Amino acid sequence: MASHIYGYPRMGPKRELKFALESFWDRKSSADDLKKVAADLRKSIWKQMAEVGIKYIPSNTFSFYDHVLDCTATLGAVPPRYGWTGGEIEFSTYFSMARGNASVPAMEMTKWFDTNYHYIVPELGPHVNFSYSSHKAVNEYKEAKALGIDTVPVLVGPVSYLLLSKPDKGVEKSFPLLSLLPKILPVYKEVVADLKAAGASWIQFDEPTLILDLESHQLQAFTEAYSELESSLSGLNVLVETCFADVPAKAYKTLTALKGVSAFGFDFVRGANTIDLIKGGFPRNKFLFAGVVDGRNIWANDLSASLSTLQSLEGIVGKDNLVVSTSCSLLHTAVDIANETKLDPEIMSWLAFAAQKIYEVDALAKALSGQKDGDYFSANATALAARKSSPRVTNEAVRKAADALKGSDHRRATNVSARLDAQQKKLNLPILPTTTIGSFPQTPELRKVRREYKAHKISEEEYVKEIKEEIRKVVELQEELDIDVLVHGEPERNDMVEYFGEQLSGFAFTVNGWVQSYGSRCVKPPIIYGDVSRPKPMTVFWSSTAQGMTKRPMKGMLTGPVTILNWSFVRNDQPRSETCYQIALAIKDEVEDLEKAGINVIQIDEAALREGLPLRKSEQADYLKWAVHSFRITNVGVQDTTQIHTHMCYSHFNDIIHSIIDMDADVITIENSRSDEKLLSVFREGVKYGAGIGPGVYDIHSPRIPPTEEIADRINKMLAVLEMNILWVNPDCGLKTRKYAEVKAALTNMVDAAKRIRSRLARA
Ligand code: GLN
Ligand code: ZN
Repeated sequence: MASHIYGYPRMGPKRELKFALESFWDRKSSADDLKKVAADLRKSIWKQMAEVGIKYIPSNTFSFYDHVLDCTATLGAVPPRYGWTGGEIEFSTYFSMARGNASVPAMEMTKWFDTNYHYIVPELGPHVNFSYSSHKAVNEYKEAKALGIDTVPVLVGPVSYLLLSKPDKGVEKSFPLLSLLPKILPVYKEVVADLKAAGASWIQFDEPTLILDLESHQLQAFTEAYSELESSLSGLNVLVETCFADVPAKAYKTLTALKGVSAFGFDFVRGANTIDLIKGGFPRNKFLFAGVVDGRNIWANDLSASLSTLQSLEGIVGKDNLVVSTSCSLLHTAVDIANETKLDPEIMSWLAFAAQKIYEVDALAKALSGQKDGDYFSANATALAARKSSPRVTNEAVRKAADALKGSDHRRATNVSARLDAQQKKLNLPILPTTTIGSFPQTPELRKVRREYKAHKISEEEYVKEIKEEIRKVVELQEELDIDVLVHGEPERNDMVEYFGEQLSGFAFTVNGWVQSYGSRCVKPPIIYGDVSRPKPMTVFWSSTAQGMTKRPMKGMLTGPVTILNWSFVRNDQPRSETCYQIALAIKDEVEDLEKAGINVIQIDEAALREGLPLRKSEQADYLKWAVHSFRITNVGVQDTTQIHTHMCYSHFNDIIHSIIDMDADVITIENSRSDEKLLSVFREGVKYGAGIGPGVYDIHSPRIPPTEEIADRINKMLAVLEMNILWVNPDCGLKTRKYAEVKAALTNMVDAAKRIRSRLARA
């Protein structure tokens, strides 16, 4: 029985790639240094899988930034603004597309399905001259081969690539991207030919868009694409992978009838109907790659349950055609539990990270072929049983309080326009008030202070003093810049979810459980293993300290329940909604304590609300209902004069705008500048928005300083569709990844732009 791994984390067990990338970007190391770190990481991953005994080991799942951007590079689809003139795409062009450079902004970045990974959105149009411009796939295949490991090269499938793209600026929004298939397939053929010549016997195309609600003509594109590729693929075993959900029945038919394809991969963890689809018919003599080991979570697999799933699949497709796999790329889980030194041993025994999941896949494959490792299976069964009955998982009081929420929809008593009036009397803000999203740059010195405090190298007293000093600097800077609503800068936080999770009960933390979010950015999701409660106030001390330093309003800064949920590894033993309501109650306590401490503006970030949206339309309404409800629960208890802000980033909002309105926040700040101001189109189309709104006026993901003119232009565009008395002026997101020099220059321009427009409006 064979085993397969869909894809593997790139960052390394201790984020080696992140540090190498950032040092290269800062010109502290050379391109060769970076390449060496990358090659070492790839080598150790391949060796690790080979040693465990995995049969189908992936290659080309490594990336210096993003695998979709890698595909763009392979196809030579570089937008003209980067000035690329042909030839093999080098770092300078590649990283300019990813991150922008001094003169050109980056390409748009957006969520990868419902994960917290972000990909770089290809910009395509009829004028793009596709040409084979990055040989990364074949180079990595050869690299592994030289190490004695024959891998399965992985490519983003041609149809998914196009479906994940957007029309470039030069063409209509309605430009049919799929019409580019005949232009990209010749490049795919060249890549395939190269891989064949290098000795590859398998190739994997990731076509995750197959799980979406696709239209017939989109499904038709799969049929056409693979028919067109068929002759080039002959002689190869071709695997088409899906993930993150089951494949809709119609798409399943299309998929399993594809020409030239000999293997199909499915997600048996999230795909609730996958098993029924297979039972309903699977093509004879083709391989089924069964993703039974969860690539999206950190819980140990229920090996005996997986084994019985696999056994029933074996009955359908036959012993020789079944391959044990992961539900998706392991990119979305933590790397290796071996590096966890601080986890409680009981909780640790319930977990499996990427490196452990490889063993699970292998053990399942061996068990199926009659070589069951009895000890391994029984240790797994014992751990699962212990988790089920552990007292640390259940808190009766919390369960009761969460149950009691059902039946009411929790809305503030006064409507938003009356609330805004009451707040304005208190806050007395100018029109187009300026603010920022929360964090200020996290300098190496600051990180050091937090690190040393955590390691008990400095006392609490010293720590508090240092953080206060940092807050004072941030407050003074904002006053100097003449920003209207201030923030304390979040110097005490390493991460907007971890910070809260550490203070809530029911959460566990890893030291190295990093997951890539975008480029070199990683997050370390907490593990929610039990019922959630808030033993004591979490942010009141810092927020009131900061408020004490200024007469201007200081925003209290919290992370909302939906974001905490979506950015954590969550329990798989109760519905997500239950966990979310529990977190909402904990945040509600915090909101009310902040209000009592004299904080009049409280921002509850729901950066990740959109990304938790189920991929299938049929499941979305239910999610939005409990997610929006959870948000409202957090602030239903405040007075009219307390202004509730929320913030969201990096996403498409237009389809959920009514749910966003239903959150009933007083002010919302939203990512906008990096997605061609798509957000504004919803207001152009007539959606009425009565609350305050701050669509981001510049991109904080790029080191580029936005000129005043450009920001003023953006504000003017907003004023064309939004009333001036509800418009706020702010960046797209928090500033923690930027440098002070960049932040000062950008915010100076932002405030200048706001003032310029204010005086124009005053004259009018
Ligand atoms: N308040 C957070 C910050 O500024 C929000 C971050 C986010 O939206 N991702 O860092
Ligand atoms: Zn944000």
